Amino acid sequence: MSAHSHTHDSHPGATAWDEHARAALTRAGYRSGAARLAVVDLLARQDCCLSAREIADRLREQGSSVGLASVYRALEVLDELGLLGRLDSGEGTVRYEPAYPNGHHHHHLVCDHCGCVTPFEDDGLEAAIYSLAKQLDYEVAGHDVVLRGSCPDCRLAQKR
Ligand SMILES: [Zn+2]
Ligand SMILES: [Zn+2]
Ligand SMILES: [Zn+2]
Repeated sequence: MSAHSHTHDSHPGATAWDEHARAALTRAGYRSGAARLAVVDLLARQDCCLSAREIADRLREQGSSVGLASVYRALEVLDELGLLGRLDSGEGTVRYEPAYPNGHHHHHLVCDHCGCVTPFEDDGLEAAIYSLAKQLDYEVAGHDVVLRGSCPDCRLAQKR
């Protein structure tokens, strides 16, 4: 199972999120914990979401001594402060990615067969949600869109 089979060239707002997250932690009275900062640094450099286990694995690959339990605690704090986007991809795995302060975001395709997660952006979808919210006279603060099905690789494998 891979976290994403598609990567973007740029990281819109990555630096801004990094600073935003550090400032939010300070404001909330958290001392600069090494584990939290390691998780913030790692997430700021990602194109898409990662599970706690994937974050712990990558930190270990980088030579960090931050363990899985510390990663879970760090994610809990960051989530409580509204700094993370969550993707529940089924099978009990929750993945996290930065929630950019400027509202920039993408959505996800999740393969029911191999579990791979692919990010996508669509201006038409955003415009449709915006106009729907207006029509419903609702002040919409956020939205979740997840498309599920079969990824190209799994469809190819089925045909063989
Ligand atoms: Zn994503
Ligand atoms: Zn698949
Ligand atoms: Zn959206």
